[in-house]
This record gives sequence, structure tokens and C-alpha cells, in this order.
Amino acid sequence: MTNSLFKPGFEHFKIFVNGCLCDKEPWQIVTLTTTSVLAGVSLWGFIFQEESLLSRGKKTAFRLARKIPAIARRIDSELDKINETFEKEVINRNQGNPYITTLPDKGKSHTEIIELVKQYLKFGDYKWEEGYVSGAVYYFNTDLIKLLTDVYTLASYTNPLHPDIFPGVCKMEAEVVRMTANLFHGGPSSCGTMTTGGTESILMACKAYRDYARSEWGIKHPEIILPTTSHPAFDKAGLYFGIRITHTPVDPVHYKADINAMRRAISRNTILLVGSTPNFPYGTMDDIEEIAALGRQYNIPVHVDACLGGFLVIFMEQAGYKLPPFDFSVPGVTSISADTHKYGFAPKGSSVILYSEPKIPTPSVLCDNGLAWRSLRVPDRQWFEGRRDTSQNLKFVGQSFENLVKN
Ligand SMILES: *Cc1c(COP(=O)(O)O)cnc(C)c1O
Repeated sequence: MTNSLFKPGFEHFKIFVNGCLCDKEPWQIVTLTTTSVLAGVSLWGFIFQEESLLSRGKKTAFRLARKIPAIARRIDSELDKINETFEKEVINRNQGNPYITTLPDKGKSHTEIIELVKQYLKFGDYKWEEGYVSGAVYYFNTDLIKLLTDVYTLASYTNPLHPDIFPGVCKMEAEVVRMTANLFHGGPSSCGTMTTGGTESILMACKAYRDYARSEWGIKHPEIILPTTSHPAFDKAGLYFGIRITHTPVDPVHYKADINAMRRAISRNTILLVGSTPNFPYGTMDDIEEIAALGRQYNIPVHVDACLGGFLVIFMEQAGYKLPPFDFSVPGVTSISADTHKYGFAPKGSSVILYSEPKIPTPSVLCDNGLAWRSLRVPDRQWFEGRRDTSQNLKFVGQSFENLVKN
């Protein structure tokens, strides 16, 4: 039945094509076919790149404009001015102290080094001790500093890359991850790792989604949609991992993600929607319930960036301020980044990335059995699955090491 329906159409097509090519020799047909296929493929490659056609067009126009001498002179003079101001600012900030640019002939003593550090720390004139730079210094308290430095004194030589040598450090990481997952209402299969900061947490998540979307849905040209108020770490991830980043506007009154704009930006290549709780530039919270509903409707994962205030907002309800839900309690939220080194009051260089399920980071875990670098056979940082306790992870890592030693 279907056959006879399509048949007349196909017959017409056949007669048309044969008619067009009846006076061509076979070599001409072969050449014509090859050339048009190659042209089609390269046109496709030219149009569909990580960077949009518009943005590439703008850059090319700018590059060409710079070739016009008058414009080039104007741009160069502006750039020189900026460089000069920048240099002056740096010199002022360092209060005219010269830079040390080579290793000293004679090593400095303990006291000399401490003196030097004290001297450097005096540069700058922001009143950060009094809490005037909330986005840079989160909490200044001498008891806390004493605790942090005591811990560091004890543990500074450890290397979390080697959980077999430092199982206690591995346990610390597992506990931080599990406590954070519980705070953010992660289910029994939630999992995660610690990273060196919010940017790394976001990079890890974006790479995980890129690899997940590739292995699960065969998406080759991934795109992430996020409000303009999102942290630049996502743009960095886009550059590093070849993901197109689409910025959508925020509503001009509340500075929350414009959900309709996000909806319009969705394409078949969208691998992730992002919301911040709160964002860095304004401190406003996106409506995660709305973003997650969009994610559920289109089957797109949702990342909540709680890097800045995650460890504050999660306690708001207990403090008597009811907030709309924004964590794993909202169905559709698949990952959360929260910085221990911000309102978690840990020293700089630590953050947590959480996933609702291990299947998201799995395609991204580095575990190549064929590498010459034997130690890389163990995932370089294992992530911790829900109820599976640390000892099991350790056993897994331990077994890998055992195999390694055996081979
Ligand atoms: C701080 C921050 C990040 C990550 O920045 P790091 O300096 O790398 O920790 C990401 N998102 C938001 C909203 C942040 O405030």
C-alpha cells in the first residue's frame, strides 16, 4: 500500500534526474556527485560551528575593518591608553615596590619569607576586614583562621590523588560530598566530588553533560542555555570543551531568568539549562522550579549554580526566611555546584559538584586501561555514589591498584 503511494513520486523523480543527466558521460556524473557532496559537507561544517555564524561574522568584519589604517590607528591608540592605565594601576597597587624576577642567589630564611608575605599582604586599601567586599572575602574571623591553618599544618603534605596512601583524606572528601548532597536534598543515588573551586565544579559538570549527551543522544554540536547573569565559568567551559553557549536575557524588574526566552532558545542540540541561586552580579535567584519544568518538558538536564550563596540559601528556611525550592527537591534538577570556599568558610580552592545520579558523570570519568601511564588506570578522582559507602570506593580503587601492581 505504502509502496504504491510513493511509487508515482519516485517515478517522477527518476525520470526528472535521468532527463537532466542523459547527455552527461559517466565521469561527469561521478565528478558532479562527488563535488556537490563535498560542497554540501563543507557548507554544513561552515554554518554549524560552536560559535554562531553571527558572532563569527562580526569578528571577521572587525578584523577587516582593522586593516583600514585610520581605524587601526584609532584602535591602537585606545588600546595603548588602556594598557598604560592598567600598568599605572598595578604599580600603584604594589606601592612602587619592584618585582623579584629571578631566584635569589641565597635562599631566604623562614623569618625573611614571613616578613615578605606580611609586607605583600599590606598592599591594597579595601576595608575587607569590615566585610565591605562580600564577593571576595566571605568571613574574617580569627578563630576560624586558626582552625583552618591548624588543619592545613597537619594535612598540607597529603595528596588526594592517592586515596590508597591517604584513605583518611579520601574519607573527608566523601563526607563533605555526602553532607552537601544531604543538605541539598539529594536522593540516595546522588553523588559528586570536591573540586578546586566553583569554576572547576562548573567545568566538570559541563564536560559531564557534553559527554553524556554525546553517548546518550548522539549530540555532536552541544549547546547550553543560560541567563546573562550566569557566571563566566560556563563560557569558559564552552571554550574548553567545544560547547556553544547561548545567553538569554533576564527580566528587567527582578533580574531573574526570562523563562520564555530560555524556551525559545532550546534546540535539538541543547544539552543543559542553567539557573543561579543566587547569581554573582545581582544576588538575585532564578526561578529554579520554572527552569526545571522546562527541562522536564523537553527532557533537558538542569544545573543549579549555587556556588556563591549555596551554603547560605540552604539554611534560609531554618533562619525563618522561606524560599521557593531550588535544589534536588525540585524534579528535573540534575546537578548543583556549591562553593565550600565561599559561605562554606573553607579556605580558597575548594568546592563541591553534585549530580542527582551517577549516570551523568559516568561517561566523563577518566579510566583508560590502555594508557602507558599506569596510574591513570584508576579514575583520577573517583566520585562517590549515594549509599555505596566510601569503603566500597576505596575497595574499587584498591583493587585497581592491586591489578596495577600485579601487571
Ligand atoms: C564564585 C562563583 C562561581 C565560581 O567561581 P570560583 O571563583 O571559581 O569559585 C560560579 N558561580 C557563581 C554564581 C559564583 O559566585
